[in-house]
Amino acid sequence: MVFNQSPKNDIKMAADIVDLIGQFVQLKKAGRNYVGLCPFHGEKDPSFSVNQERQTFHCFGCKRGGDIFSFWMEYHKISFMEAMNDLADRYNIQIPSSFNPEIARKARDRRKSLYMLNQHAMEYFQGVLQDSVKGKIARNYLEKRLVSGDIIDRFCLGYASDQWEGLTQFLRRRGEDLEAASEAGLIVPKKNRSFYDRFRERLIFPIFDYRTQVIGFGGRVLDNAKPKYINTPESSIFHKGESLYGLQTSIEAIRAKGMAIIVEGYMDCLALKKNGLEEVVATLGTALTTNHIRRLKGYAKEAVVIFDSDQAGQAAVVRSLSLFSNEALEARIVVLPEGHDPDSFINTYGMGQFSNLLQTAVPILDFFLELKLKEQETDEGRVFVMNEILRVFSEIRNEPLLSLYVRRLADKIGIRENIVQSELSKITSKRSFKPLYADMTKSPVPVKAETNVSDLQLLSLLVNYTSAVPQLVDIDCQSLLTSTVSIEIINSIFEIYLKSGDVASSELEDILKTKAAREQLREIQHRPFVVYSQEDVEQAIVECKEKINHKKLLASLKKAKGDIQAQNWLVKGYKKKDCEI
Ligand SMILES: [Zn+2]
Repeated sequence: MVFNQSPKNDIKMAADIVDLIGQFVQLKKAGRNYVGLCPFHGEKDPSFSVNQERQTFHCFGCKRGGDIFSFWMEYHKISFMEAMNDLADRYNIQIPSSFNPEIARKARDRRKSLYMLNQHAMEYFQGVLQDSVKGKIARNYLEKRLVSGDIIDRFCLGYASDQWEGLTQFLRRRGEDLEAASEAGLIVPKKNRSFYDRFRERLIFPIFDYRTQVIGFGGRVLDNAKPKYINTPESSIFHKGESLYGLQTSIEAIRAKGMAIIVEGYMDCLALKKNGLEEVVATLGTALTTNHIRRLKGYAKEAVVIFDSDQAGQAAVVRSLSLFSNEALEARIVVLPEGHDPDSFINTYGMGQFSNLLQTAVPILDFFLELKLKEQETDEGRVFVMNEILRVFSEIRNEPLLSLYVRRLADKIGIRENIVQSELSKITSKRSFKPLYADMTKSPVPVKAETNVSDLQLLSLLVNYTSAVPQLVDIDCQSLLTSTVSIEIINSIFEIYLKSGDVASSELEDILKTKAAREQLREIQHRPFVVYSQEDVEQAIVECKEKINHKKLLASLKKAKGDIQAQNWLVKGYKKKDCEI
């Protein structure tokens, strides 16, 4: 596409916000808007609204909102420039290089070169795996582990041989920037300014992002050496706690089924994929994080998590209860028989048995309560465990869900709900909470408290029915407003109108200075306080003018206090004006 005004506008022209957000959040049409569950805060009832006409979104819960750029930045936790580049790529818009500040361009180019280096490294590892001599041991291993050729190709598996400088030399021969390769975590610097390979004698699992770019690698030993797995270290393109293995091949299936299956290991993910379960992803051998869950909840309504039956597996269930609750993603748990992971289970008992096991998945709360309450025969034991459970509950910020959990616990343990609740309050009051969304607490949103009904009526009129603007622009309707936020919005509307004779909503949001005003604007746009018909608009304008005149009269009467004649004259004049309207 040819660059015409600014890349930002070109991208806005090319993109559709409903289409874009719809790929990450399930949206349903509701009146003029589309609504869904907010991807940024935990909720059960949708308060996330997307408006196609204005190309904006707004969450009535956490107040996040804005245009496609705001969404992309917030969702992927990236900067504006990164969002701009992503979206420009996505919609095939060329960004002229002069547009980027130098630093942003350099950072982007650096990231691009890291992606390219990873791509070359992946091809190198694939080549080694296919090499008749060097790759034989790894191919034998894969065969033994029942990993098919299809899977090897589809997931671009590779092998790093025992050479210390295999990849290093390969990259050097290609004239690649070795410093950058070191930054990507592919090679490790030595004292004498040379490098050696990070991955040696390991099966290589490339890790892709949602755009199918290679962001990093996992490497597994072929024997029982330790560590069993190593991953690419953190870099500007690789964040272990956010990345999910297999996601690039699973998104479609997860979205279609509304469900994601989460396993821990690369091999587990591949075993399920091989057996036709496409909606599976793996954490990179790490515990689940909030970022993992957020990444999934754009596509899935529910997650099934498969844990090992060992202590570590049980501890992981306990930890993930509050994560899932806070993100309001339903989760069910499957625990494997002792000594098994998904890969070994399927290879031993077959896929049919595994499917049966999936059917037995229990809601995470049930699983957690069962785990904690079993074998507690004595009253003292039950009270002790109740407190343990409440400490886990105290991490949950999702109030409605928490109140249901408390009721369930009370039922299950046979203690009155109000007592359980007061025990919970004791725990939470002792603790000073680290807020889940640090940035949310920075900006308290007092908008509602100070914006009264008549402000909202007038805002609804001027924001959503711009035909009313010319009639109200020069009659001081600001005097009817009580909140600074409303005054800022209405002043801005008039300012734009007086400058250009028209009020474009995108321009309006841009010139508003305070966050509170931008939030209030979006709120009124997405959920007008009053919906007017054309006749109503005229009526509302008349009423607004009347109110202003009345207000002026009262002020004048106050001034003319004691002067009956002047007061009579003012009232007559007011009535006459009234008739003119
Ligand atoms: Zn929200």
